[in-house]
Formats: sequence, C-alpha cells, structure tokens
Amino acid sequence: MSAVPAYKRILLKLSGEALMGDDSYGINRAVTERIVSEIGEVVRLGVQVAVVVGGGNIFRGIAPAAAGMDRANADYMGMLATVMNAMALQDAMKRFGLGCRVQSALNLEQVAEPFIRGKALRYLEDGKVVIFAAGTGNPFFTTDTAAALRGVEMDAEVVIKATKVDGVYTDDPKLNSAATRYQKLSFDEAINRNLKVMDATALTLCRDQNLPIIVFSIFKHGALQRVVMGQDEGTLVHCN
Ligand code: UDP
Repeated sequence: MSAVPAYKRILLKLSGEALMGDDSYGINRAVTERIVSEIGEVVRLGVQVAVVVGGGNIFRGIAPAAAGMDRANADYMGMLATVMNAMALQDAMKRFGLGCRVQSALNLEQVAEPFIRGKALRYLEDGKVVIFAAGTGNPFFTTDTAAALRGVEMDAEVVIKATKVDGVYTDDPKLNSAATRYQKLSFDEAINRNLKVMDATALTLCRDQNLPIIVFSIFKHGALQRVVMGQDEGTLVHCN
C-alpha cells in the first residue's frame, strides 16, 4: 500500500446528526472532538479539507415549531442551525490546533466570513480547513446539494459523505441481514435504484460534473483516513 493519499483535496459532508452521536439532538462535545481529531489526521497527511456541515441535529429540536411554518422560513432556520454546527466545529478545531475558517452562504458577518470562492481556495492551499455554513444560502435545497456545489466549486477530487452506515447497501442492513455493501456503484445505478447516497439534486450535480462520492461511516474509527488513502472503505459512487 502506498503511503501517499489518493486525494489532494476533499469535500467532507458531515450531517448534523454526525455531531449529535447517541444524543437525541444537539451537539455532543466528545463526538465532535473525535471527528475533529480524525479530520486533523487527514490534514496532517497533506490533504486539503473543505467541510459542509448539516443542521439536522439542531433543526430536529425545533421541528415542532417549524411544523406548519412557511417552508422557506423553516429552511432559513435550518440554514442557521448549520451555522451553529460550523462554529462548534471551528471551536473544536482551534482547541486541536487546526487552522480553520468558516464561510457562510448567508450574511452573518459578526460570526462568519461570507462565502468567497477565491479566498476559500487560498485557505485550502494554506492547509486550513474551510467549513462552509448555511448550505447553499437558498431554501428548498439541502446541505447534500451544498456539498456537491462547493465540491465542484472548490475543484475537490471527491465528496466524502459521512453517515452512520459504512457504505451503500443493497437493502437496509438493520432490517435485512442479507443486505450487502456495494464497493462501487455508478451514478446511474444509484439514481435508478433510488439508493440512499445523497438527494437527487446533489447526485445529478456530481454526475454531471464528474465528481465522485464516497459514502462511509464516521462512527468507524480511522475510516476517514482509510478512505483518503484509497483503501476499500465505504462505497464509491462514480461515473462510468
Ligand atoms: N437548508 C436549506 N438550504 C440549503 C441547505 C439546508 O434550506 O442549501 C435547510 C433545510 O431546511 C434543511 C436544513 O437546512 O432541512 C438542514 O440541512 P440538512 O437537512 O441538509 O442537514 P443534515 O440532514 O445534513 O444534518
């Protein structure tokens, strides 16, 4: 096995749920620190890391209030939830001595820089982690789509999607013990079989821009590093 990482620049998509661990909502400090230390290991390998963070962990706590709300309004609340997660991640990164910047798709200049592509690219080249907050800045989208969009804009070689499951399976492995993990999958297979990789908007953007996706488990220790080293970890979704 080569000791050289398989990628120079990655876009890591962390769902809000990744930060809550086994809690029912919110940000779990120990889990956040473990994820940050794994990101730190990858940065130390010389890989440039951009992160898009979701907001489901916080949004879930306010879901009753959002129910029945105007959809666009609720979506802006969801985007604000991602900003809290981005700030928590940045704080943990600072404690770990990792250089990090947060750029927000919504204007929140007291807490985060606005999204400026050229600046974000420079930070990455300087070895800083760039966390993109507030999704795409538009309602009716998801942070998966933001991950695909920022991945393309940042010229990332791969979008690495952290989930609770160690890849894409033929069926739900919790319900069907015969379900098997796909090692590789084409975009068209993932879309036609409606496999849970990312939402359709994100998948088609990645397919059209030839940006592969790797789905892996953030709860499996060392898995992120193995993905970055090009080892058989998770599921690779690729163009033919
Ligand atoms: N959201 C949005 N536009 C975006 C990204 C996110 O409106 O570009 C809102 C949407 O309401 C979503 C919420 O923010 O439900 C949190 O994002 P997401 O569900 O993608 O977070 P995750 O499930 O990854 O934690």
